[in-house]
Amino acid sequence: MSATSTLHPATLAVHAGAEPDAETGAVAPPIHLATTFRHGPAGERQSGYEYQREGNPTQDRLETALATLEGGAGALVFASGMAAISGVLEALPPGSRILIPDDCYSGLRYLAAEFLPERDVHAIAVDMADLPAVEAACAAAPVALIWVETPSNPLLKVCDVAALSRIARAHGALLACDNTFATPVLQRPVSLGADVVMHSTTKYFGGHSDVLGGALVFARRDDFFDRVAHRRHITGAVLAPFNAWLTLRGCRSLPARMALHCANARRLADFLATHPAIKRVNYPGLAAHAGHAVAARQMSDYGAMMSIQLRGGREAALSTAGKLRLFTNATSLGGCESLIEHRASVEGAHPVSPQDLLRISVGLEHIDDLVADFEQALV
Ligand SMILES: *Cc1c(COP(=O)(O)O)cnc(C)c1O
Repeated sequence: MSATSTLHPATLAVHAGAEPDAETGAVAPPIHLATTFRHGPAGERQSGYEYQREGNPTQDRLETALATLEGGAGALVFASGMAAISGVLEALPPGSRILIPDDCYSGLRYLAAEFLPERDVHAIAVDMADLPAVEAACAAAPVALIWVETPSNPLLKVCDVAALSRIARAHGALLACDNTFATPVLQRPVSLGADVVMHSTTKYFGGHSDVLGGALVFARRDDFFDRVAHRRHITGAVLAPFNAWLTLRGCRSLPARMALHCANARRLADFLATHPAIKRVNYPGLAAHAGHAVAARQMSDYGAMMSIQLRGGREAALSTAGKLRLFTNATSLGGCESLIEHRASVEGAHPVSPQDLLRISVGLEHIDDLVADFEQALV
């Protein structure tokens, strides 16, 4: 299944990297646990593989599937989403200046604050929805890479990937896009001009809250791809074969799950947006959302992540989170079960999320039950 296939995403999700096993005809792929592969006396490769940390057949299938779904030229999978982010950022030369979103996954913020400066890489937080601000940050000093996340965590801010890719190109910067919330089912950043797409496959790809993983998909197999691949080989943050296999299994049902996730989220957002206890619903599918028009242009649907801000502030947020029965209080997202989290409570000593905010991952339960749960909790 080539990355340039014209088949529909749902078909690609089922068939990419899914050829029956050549040896046995098994329709489900084998899990190759071998750490080492036979070679000739002078190290001649016989199968294309040498050592699991460098590459293995189960990982290859997943990378083929991810590159195909994102429309990229190649993919690299990692032990976690954070390992994937580090894989890109640590491949930048010392002295690099990068732009990161003002609203983003907390791990990226920690990486930028604690670890990148040790390598003399400096991150500047910018509102990626404010294109003149991004342009100004690029004009002020050379930028090696612009990192975007759309929709973003936890405010669901939307940025215009095509416009940002034009700014990045004009300034000789790479554009990397965290596509975890949208998945390639809803948004394909490579087709919008991104150079690298990142996923925490822990979320929607895995889909069942039981497998950690991360991925990078590259628009080109160029020197940068080789650098990141070589770093992964040597630094070792690789995905275990069993985790690759579980993630591959998640790919098969990803489009079907996303359709129901999105339909549920839309219904829940409509209900919450009219509830008197709620001040604000951050969901790009709502016409009132600041990024709605851009999301409508670059996404095929609006995803199943949202956050709500309660009129009663922190106290009302905690009380609501405590009363919900079907929404489990837990971090993470993208599983079958609905989750809710008071982000400010889990962000450590210096929380950045508003105290009145709850982040919601809308699951695959029946929507009437989810709405009824909020009805009883929001009193
Ligand atoms: C979870 C997440 C990450 C980090 O991924 P891990 O698999 O937990 O390391 C990065 N970005 C976003 C948007 C996420 O939701």
